[in-house]
Amino acid sequence: MTLAHILDGLRCACCGGLNVLWLDAVRGLVECRQCGERAGCLVDCGEAA
Ligand SMILES: [Zn+2]
Repeated sequence: MTLAHILDGLRCACCGGLNVLWLDAVRGLVECRQCGERAGCLVDCGEAA
């Protein structure tokens, strides 16, 4: 069982990589496998600050 889902067709806003974003369902954030940028805004904007 995996809780990480690759987000096909999405591009990283930081490094511009395509299909490098994956959703961490446990932590409710999106992380880029290429540059390591993390974004929680897609799920919860309140926790990122
Ligand atoms: Zn990136």
